Amino acid sequence: MNWEEYASNALKSFAEVTTAGELAEAHTAWLGRKSELKVGLRNVRDRETGMALNAVRERLEEAFAAREAELERGALVQLDQQLDVTLPGTRLRRGRLHPLTQIRREVEDIFLGLGYEIVDTREVETVWHNFDALSQPLTHPSRSHRDTFYINDDTLLRTHTSTGQIRVMEERQPPIYIATLGRTYRRDTPSPKNTPSFHQVEALAVDRGITLADLKGTLMHFFRAMFGEGRDVRMRTSFFPFTEPSVEFDVTCFLCAGEGCPFCKYTGWFEMGGAGAVDPAVFEKMGYDPEEWSGFAWGLGLDRIAAQRHGIPDIRMFWENDLRVLRQF
Ligand SMILES: [Zn+2]
Repeated sequence: MNWEEYASNALKSFAEVTTAGELAEAHTAWLGRKSELKVGLRNVRDRETGMALNAVRERLEEAFAAREAELERGALVQLDQQLDVTLPGTRLRRGRLHPLTQIRREVEDIFLGLGYEIVDTREVETVWHNFDALSQPLTHPSRSHRDTFYINDDTLLRTHTSTGQIRVMEERQPPIYIATLGRTYRRDTPSPKNTPSFHQVEALAVDRGITLADLKGTLMHFFRAMFGEGRDVRMRTSFFPFTEPSVEFDVTCFLCAGEGCPFCKYTGWFEMGGAGAVDPAVFEKMGYDPEEWSGFAWGLGLDRIAAQRHGIPDIRMFWENDLRVLRQF
């Protein structure tokens, strides 16, 4: 093989190509893994030939790189000549956050303002964290496979964000002020008010001398920050296995301010969620002394707040990702 001739042919072909694609092809042909030069290099038996072939290879690689840069500059110049910067541009559509993300951030801000820490823990949970630690009776229907998505006998998709409170209490000693936010799962048939996956926010406060008055004060602050001054909160007795006493709480309708309208079915109130004083039995499982510590917990569905805030009649709309809907927020 006459390597001088090989080199001059290669240089000629680099000079003749006019596009980056053709140049790449020429590179494969003259310098690629299967090119005569590379095969020659692999079969070298003596030092002198090796040095000579390497010199050829270096020369060709340099020429290739130079030609590549040249073609690139040419392409830019051409683009510059074609480009008329005075033409009207394409209008870019500005992105925005999903309404649920917006509400979530707003809720987080309110809690941060109250000195709470925002926590989101795992969505795949143990049965113990989801039910047992919260004193959910073994016979409770929410434990059944018809209501809950089980991964196996001990593992499930969390049905509420209370699991995050258990995880935090397991790891820390009071005082604790946290809000757990995140996605939760239940085997619900999709309807205007329910979806199998939804978002919850739950707050937990554990400290010395906490009473239901603190709970009510926190709820009032939260809903006034969320829905505006003048909102009122009322509590009705209820039952949850992990709080004692337990309440459900309502907030004055933000459309009619309590006067009564079709939106609140003329009651003047909206049901918002559940709350209560943390049951001493839960504290005992966490190794807290119930004589020393007391606390409250409350929770509600973020999807429902977002729906009420925006007057959305069907929460499935949040999951359909129809841009005509989402672009309105
Ligand atoms: Zn109303």
